[in-house]
Amino acid sequence: MKIPLVDLVAQYKTIQHEIDEEISSVLHEAAFIQGDRVRKFERTYSDVYGTANTISCANGTDAIYIALKVLGIGPGDEVITTAHSWISTSEVISQTGAKPVFVDVEPNHFTIDTSRIEAKINDRTRAIIPVHLYGHPANMGDILSIAKKHELQVIEDCAQAHFAKYNGQNVGTFGQFGTFSFFPGKNLGAYGDAGGLITDDNELAVRARMFANHGALTKHAHKIEGINSRLDGLQAGILNVKLNYIQEWTKQRILIAKRYDEQLAGISELTLPTVASNAEHVFHLYVVRTERRDELLKFLNEHGVGASIHYPRALPLLEAYSYMGHTKDDFPVSGQNQEQIMSLPIYPELSLEQQQFVTSCIRDFFSK
Ligand SMILES: *Cc1c(COP(=O)(O)O)cnc(C)c1O
Repeated sequence: MKIPLVDLVAQYKTIQHEIDEEISSVLHEAAFIQGDRVRKFERTYSDVYGTANTISCANGTDAIYIALKVLGIGPGDEVITTAHSWISTSEVISQTGAKPVFVDVEPNHFTIDTSRIEAKINDRTRAIIPVHLYGHPANMGDILSIAKKHELQVIEDCAQAHFAKYNGQNVGTFGQFGTFSFFPGKNLGAYGDAGGLITDDNELAVRARMFANHGALTKHAHKIEGINSRLDGLQAGILNVKLNYIQEWTKQRILIAKRYDEQLAGISELTLPTVASNAEHVFHLYVVRTERRDELLKFLNEHGVGASIHYPRALPLLEAYSYMGHTKDDFPVSGQNQEQIMSLPIYPELSLEQQQFVTSCIRDFFSK
């Protein structure tokens, strides 16, 4: 049996007819950039997500960059973020001219350790970017009270956490902006790069829309210099189809995670993901930890299981940030996680039989 980490073809087959029809319409209308499908996506996403404004853009990295620029963050500023994420989260901070300041993650949830944030705040600090990593919400209660106390902006990186909830409220709706990626492999994915921002602040929404479209709200009326970061019609059409299924797919991810919990319970050398009591985790990834990670990963891959590592190195320990001179001791939890974490296959179409194969391989490994 061969079980990939994520199977986008399996998902395509379940909606093939609708998708093919949508793609064909886009081609026949030549509705490639912006247009009705993009507007429809923004409206529907706002409605189902419970936000006043959705501004689509070219990808999830741009979404964070646009939010930072619109909030006026630039040279001389510092932005606090997590030590454990995909590099998009921190590279866009640098791109504005500001400095990323990393904070270690919680021992249990892979999200920013809010008890370590205040020690990193100084008079240059302007914003916090929490990441709801793997689909588990960061501790927004603490983050919002720290932000209020120190007058900081909050941008939530929701690239892996569409519809995850904190105290029953969708992530992305707590800060000034929530940013999303619709990269194909994300919980809600297009068939190419795509992204978006949400905000309840209408003024911020207008500025974000303008900045993402060459600084113009209407053609040739460039009020500022912006960037070219737009969602195309093809991707919007695909996302419109998929939006009808996202709730069902999310439920399925949660169910599969629960089955992993049950099927992998009681292996003393394996730590399973935990969910905070006030959180709804949407399991973009199901990440386990073990001291025998490299051995287990090799074993699984040899047996056709597409387990993998997200991410092999904490952000501040990447070569890109070597100029900061950080060592593992600066980030004890992330530093240890990078040696121990492993992501198991999870996607809505993963069958019970496939999942049982994955877990029996893992049981085999640990019984030796
Ligand atoms: C995927 C991802 C991004 C960036 O999204 P792209 O659409 O690939 O640019 C940002 N942050 C996190 C945590 C991600 O997983």
